[in-house]
Amino acid sequence: MSDFIASYTNLQHKIKQLALKNHTHPACLIAVSKHFPIASIQAAYDAGQRDFGENYIQEWSDKWRQLPDDIVWHIIGNIQSNKTKEVAQRADWVHSISRLKIAQRLSDQRPSHLAPLNICIEINIAKEPQRHGIAPEELLDLALSIESLPNLKLRGLMCVASDADHEMVAKQMQQMQQLFLQYQNRFHWDTLSMGMSSDWEIAVAYGATHIRIGSALFGQRIYQ
Ligand SMILES: *Cc1c(COP(=O)(O)O)cnc(C)c1O
Repeated sequence: MSDFIASYTNLQHKIKQLALKNHTHPACLIAVSKHFPIASIQAAYDAGQRDFGENYIQEWSDKWRQLPDDIVWHIIGNIQSNKTKEVAQRADWVHSISRLKIAQRLSDQRPSHLAPLNICIEINIAKEPQRHGIAPEELLDLALSIESLPNLKLRGLMCVASDADHEMVAKQMQQMQQLFLQYQNRFHWDTLSMGMSSDWEIAVAYGATHIRIGSALFGQRIYQ
C-alpha cells in the first residue's frame, strides 16, 4: 500500500470515528495540495478524493488544467484582484475572503452558467497581524455586503488557528464556534472551515464541518 493510501484510509477512518463519537456528520476532508505535484493530486483522485485545496492562484492555474474536470477546487489562500477572474471561472469555493472588493469582483466575474461561488469569510482568530482575515467585530458588515452579491453563496466562516499549544488552539476554535453559531440561522450558514494536519481533531470537537489537510496526507511540503 502506498504511503498516501495508508494515510488517507487512516484519516478517513478517524474522521468517521470522531463523528460517531460526537453524533455529528463526518467533516468534509479537503486535501490541501499546495507545493505538491500533479502526480500526488492524481494519486489522491484515483483513491477517490475529490475536494482539493490550493493557496496560490498561479500554482493552481498550472495544475487544474491538467487534472480531471470533476475535482471540487477550494481556494484557501489570499487572492489578488488581478487573479479573481480565473478563480471565478473555475473554482467551486473560496474560503479566504476578507475584503469586499475581492468578493465583488468574484461575483461580477462568475459565469452565469455556473452555480454561485461558495464563500467563507476568513476570521483572524489568532489576532496575529501577519495573518489574513478580519476581526470578529467586522463580520456582520462584511457578511451583509457579501449576502447581497448575486453570484456568490456565503456558506460560513474559516480560520487558521495559532501554531500554539493545545489550550490556546482550543480557545480560538471555541471562539470560532460561538461566532458561527451567533450568525448561523440569520445567514443560513452550514460551513465552519477550520483544522489542519496538527489540529483538526480539536477543530472537529468545536464543530468544524470542513477540515483542510495537507502534510498529514501528502507528507512534508518542500519549500524552494
Ligand atoms: C497549508 C494550509 C493548510 C494545510 O496545512 P497542513 O498543516 O499541511 O495540513 C490548511 N489551510 C490553509 C489555509 C493552509 O494554508
